[in-house]
Amino acid sequence: MMAVRHGKYEPKVTRAMSSRPNPQTHRSLNAPAESAENGLSVFQRHSRRFANNRFVYPVVSRRSAGLSIGINVNPDRICNFDCIYCQVDRRSESETRFVSMEQLLVELRIVLQQAASGEIYDSPELRDTPHHLRRLNDLAFSGDGEPTTFVNFDEIVTRTAELRSTLAPLETKLVLITNASMFHREHVRQGLRTLDQNNGQIWAKLDAGTKEYYHRIERTTIPFQRILDNIAGAARVRPLVIQSLFMNVHQEPPSAAEISAWCDRLNEIQADGGMIELIQIYTVARPPAESFVSALSIHQLNDIAESVRTNCGLTAAVFD
Ligand code: SF4
Repeated sequence: MMAVRHGKYEPKVTRAMSSRPNPQTHRSLNAPAESAENGLSVFQRHSRRFANNRFVYPVVSRRSAGLSIGINVNPDRICNFDCIYCQVDRRSESETRFVSMEQLLVELRIVLQQAASGEIYDSPELRDTPHHLRRLNDLAFSGDGEPTTFVNFDEIVTRTAELRSTLAPLETKLVLITNASMFHREHVRQGLRTLDQNNGQIWAKLDAGTKEYYHRIERTTIPFQRILDNIAGAARVRPLVIQSLFMNVHQEPPSAAEISAWCDRLNEIQADGGMIELIQIYTVARPPAESFVSALSIHQLNDIAESVRTNCGLTAAVFD
């Protein structure tokens, strides 16, 4: 995505300290532990590398019940958040710093063609894929940073949508996994409109109910109110999926007051005309950026889900 890296975004760019997958990586924090398929290596593969590709990486996801083709427009691993739970591996220099739009589209075309022919499941990375999951579910803008900070975000969405319409089944989704920090930018809004016209879905992160907790978790200079305003504004136009990650911080789970405040923010978004189709609740799955972060239990996640169902009337799904 970026011919000019992060050209249009926030004045202050933070770089997360160390390693782990990102929220965008939330995409690979896959699914329900009850599946008998859990032990399959295809589900344990979280790498954003496939063949010799630099930008396009297919993964099999139980959450999407099929193949998800990731599009990484942040190969430099820079993000405008610095989440304490981030799982993007930033311990080493990235090999690719800039997005070559043409190279990305070549990679995407080839992966889509391989998915259509089934050849993709001959690859070492995907050959363990169970037959019932050998279906293309989505193309996901998700990578090693915030996709909407890519200066050519609107163009990459348009060109991806063109490839989807010619090479993918009609029902294939376009998914944006985002921290919602850039929705106020016109070229990002244009990209969101293009998503809407192409079976798009927005998965927006909301991990906090108070600005104090938000800044503690996301470690960004971007105001909490902007995130709330951006989510509400986007949700007034189309229903959003909200992704919320909760964790222990120094062995302390989020307080009851924080969960209550988070429910209040969700209610405010709805009262403001925002549509929320689903809340995805999950916790850290692999070593996070900070060693003082640890996973909540499934019981704690279920309690949070129950709170949001009871207090907000929303549908909630738990992933551990
Ligand atoms: S938004 Fe947070 S979790 Fe996602 S890539 Fe940025 S720092 Fe990592």
